Amino acid sequence: MSRPTWYAKVPVRKTRDWTDKERVQILTLRKQGEGIQSISARFNTDRVRIYNQIRLMRKAAQHRCFKCGKPLSEEDLQLKKARRSRTRLIFACNECRKKFREYKIKNRKKALRKGLCGSCWDKPVVPGRTMCRNCISSTYRRRILNGVCGICGKRPLETEVLCRPCADKMKKKRLAYA
Ligand SMILES: [Zn+2]
Ligand SMILES: [Zn+2]
Ligand SMILES: [Zn+2]
Repeated sequence: MSRPTWYAKVPVRKTRDWTDKERVQILTLRKQGEGIQSISARFNTDRVRIYNQIRLMRKAAQHRCFKCGKPLSEEDLQLKKARRSRTRLIFACNECRKKFREYKIKNRKKALRKGLCGSCWDKPVVPGRTMCRNCISSTYRRRILNGVCGICGKRPLETEVLCRPCADKMKKKRLAYA
């Protein structure tokens, strides 16, 4: 169905994105008495990562911020509930989210001024865009996996990869070039 684009050729980033489903699986296996070694083999990763995921799940179960460990506020919990994402369980408190946001904005600006990607702050930016090829690709894929439009990242998917407004825009563009 999907046409081969350069998106498909760029390798996926090394850091693994765990889904809540996988996290629950890990915890369930652990509760059933399966060893960490065997669980890490199942998920094709190392023991440290499995321990980390278990720790994150414990915090999530206690409604605590995954970063600082403080209890989440009522407002945080509401936001968490409303999140349309495949990682809903793991959540940061308002303070940590704010800190992370500021840190990201600062680095993004610094990188873009130097002609580097605003997302990984490492590779050269694609002319006319704010990200490098690699990041455009992984952002696009992550959005689709999270059920939102690959282009705008805001609206829910209506076609396989796009929301209705973006799909219409693309269609118009294609027609214009046809
Ligand atoms: Zn926090
Ligand atoms: Zn990048
Ligand atoms: Zn869109």
